[in-house]
Amino acid sequence: MKKLAFGMMRLPLIDENDEASVDYNQVNDMADLFMERGFTFFDTAYPYHEGNCEVAFRKAVVERYPRDSYIIADKLPLFSIKSEDQLEPIFAEQLERTGVEYFDYYLMHNVSGFSEPGFLDVDSFAFANKKKEEGKIKHLGLSTHANAEYLDSILTMHPEMEFVLLQINYLDWENEGVESRKCYEVACKHNKPVMVMEPLKGGFLADIPPEAEKLMKDYNPDASVISWALRFVASLDNVCMVLTGASSLEQLKENIEDFENFKPLNDEEYEILNKVADIIQSNITVDCTKCKYCLDACTEEINIPKVFDLYNSEKILDPAPWTPIGNAYLNYSKLSGVGIASDCSECGMCVEECPQHIDIPEVMKDVAKTFETEYYGFVDK
Ligand code: SF4
Ligand code: SF4
Repeated sequence: MKKLAFGMMRLPLIDENDEASVDYNQVNDMADLFMERGFTFFDTAYPYHEGNCEVAFRKAVVERYPRDSYIIADKLPLFSIKSEDQLEPIFAEQLERTGVEYFDYYLMHNVSGFSEPGFLDVDSFAFANKKKEEGKIKHLGLSTHANAEYLDSILTMHPEMEFVLLQINYLDWENEGVESRKCYEVACKHNKPVMVMEPLKGGFLADIPPEAEKLMKDYNPDASVISWALRFVASLDNVCMVLTGASSLEQLKENIEDFENFKPLNDEEYEILNKVADIIQSNITVDCTKCKYCLDACTEEINIPKVFDLYNSEKILDPAPWTPIGNAYLNYSKLSGVGIASDCSECGMCVEECPQHIDIPEVMKDVAKTFETEYYGFVDK
């Protein structure tokens, strides 16, 4: 099986402010291209695009291709499970939305501290094992954003897990909050094949500082910065699948080409990536992957990932009174009517949800200081 999966977490939208407004026609084109080029693995989940990710998969693939020509992975939303009686209806809804009779791969979605009620108070693992016995799940595994020690304890408790889905990319490999390398090593210790999510760190590694990009281009002028990131994860021996969250036909096409012409990294290239990571690290302000897990938690309706995205982009630029990013923040804050950084009440509700362990309220203070200045007319706030 080829190592590239069509990760459907960030599908193209008709209205960029409406997560549910999936552009089904474009998804059909993307699925067609993916299948034509000999790739078969699709990854979806219950909450993505407010449920329409699973629907998009049905429309693009299930209703247009024979069942034996594709592979589908779906996930049990542990973080939404509060009682036993939710399990069967959610699983049934997933089968109905996707239109399949069984899932090739099924994951316990984000096993970690904040989803513990979903598998400690409710026996979700037993439920999933039962579905496997019934033939509704072919392979059962888990995804997590927790640290290596936590993953070790979960895999010790649940040796029946066949594989794990981990956040791995060259920037997080040695990151002390994410612990990509350590988690990968735990998976190897337990003999679990690894699927990779966030190989581009939510798109962040597609747009790196010019001096970092120059190192890559000097070595190989034809290779894109994205191809370096994808080759890093696909070169790991125990990685069996890489999920890329393409948001357009063009992005998916590039990902396909990178995997069709795949060559593992050599020692010199690893060295270059280490230097690139150091440069990026010195420029990054907030390590946000835009997973959006914090969105519903915010009592002040602050679009946290959007605000952090703007903040990171601003920090990479040279300081100036006016910047396009500052202007974008002004548009976001004044025109959208949602919460802005200075509205943060420091309630901390978002922090528990954040897989990157970001001290969100603390960062919000500097976001406000950066953008909500007199220059942009925030003096009256
Ligand atoms: S700490 Fe701030 S950003 Fe986080 S949920 Fe509370 S108000 Fe929102
Ligand atoms: S702040 Fe944390 S939870 Fe929110 S989108 Fe970023 S990484 Fe995800």
